[in-house]
Amino acid sequence: KLMLTMEANVLLLGADSVGKSALTVRFLTRRFIGEYGDIGKLLLFVFLLYLVSQDHFDEKRIQWADGFILVYSICDRASFNGVQQHIESIKATKDNFGTEKVPIVIVGNKRDLHHRRVVSSEEGRLLALSTDCDFYEVSAAETYHGVLLVFHGLVERIKDSK
Ligand code: GDP
Ligand code: MG
Repeated sequence: KLMLTMEANVLLLGADSVGKSALTVRFLTRRFIGEYGDIGKLLLFVFLLYLVSQDHFDEKRIQWADGFILVYSICDRASFNGVQQHIESIKATKDNFGTEKVPIVIVGNKRDLHHRRVVSSEEGRLLALSTDCDFYEVSAAETYHGVLLVFHGLVERIKDSK
């Protein structure tokens, strides 16, 4: 069956003020579509994404979501610890229903605030490696491209899981 548009529910989860709204707005108000010509990126645009962001764990939302963007701020240690907890909770919740690998992308936001960094890139990478997630560091405030890669990466993961 050929589907012209695929749909996916995406939950952005992360502590208050890590930049979930900023990432969403950056993604939704993109202005450079013409510059993204390759097939992988094109596929992003036939994917209809329903985005919801929350700062607390909500089991119904976890069930609703096909993919997760777990956001922390590189300047906020507690928000990084929160991501670790959310990964465990999501996997436990999804496993209850016999789902296989869960599409999760970990995002360290506010990369531009390097002078206030308290979570190293290495820690983010290691967490992603040990939990089988993707990992990106971005600045929603400064660049669009990194944010696009986050959503693109998640769409690829969701496709693989279907
Ligand atoms: P949310 O609570 O996770 O939705 O966080 P917001 O998107 O509302 O962002 C919280 C604050 O952090 C706002 O003042 C944003 O302007 C700021 N912010 C978000 N992303 C970035 C970023 O990448 N760099 C910097 N410097 N500030 C950011
Ligand atoms: Mg918000």
